[in-house]
Amino acid sequence: MTETIFSKIIRKEIPAKIVYETDTILAFHDIHPKAPIHILIIPKIEIPSVRELASREHAFLLGDLFDAANKIAEIFGVKEKGFRLIFNCGPDGGQEVYHLHMHLLAGKKLGF
Ligand code: AMP
Repeated sequence: MTETIFSKIIRKEIPAKIVYETDTILAFHDIHPKAPIHILIIPKIEIPSVRELASREHAFLLGDLFDAANKIAEIFGVKEKGFRLIFNCGPDGGQEVYHLHMHLLAGKKLGF
């Protein structure tokens, strides 16, 4: 897989506003926020997109991503009001960075 800018963020070679980190996950503010709170939650291992996810092999990773989303919602105080989680996949799905990531959007009532 071709390395993306997110690998450099994981290695701390370029700056990002990190909000949460574990052994397997990194989460940081999106540089072009689409909502008052817009966090990207990424696995530290390199998987290009949802298309490369295998149900059993990556089950732990999905658990870690959703656990991180809930923790981040708590950190930002939006767990009760709610938030939106989005995976963009492939060109028609609007994916720009081919390192799997989950968008967490919150902080206002979101339209479609
Ligand atoms: P996607 O379109 O789903 O691939 O989303 C990629 C997201 O990464 C976009 O919302 C970009 O604004 C965001 N992004 C790209 N480069 C950076 C960066 N260096 N730091 C933070 N967010 C970034």
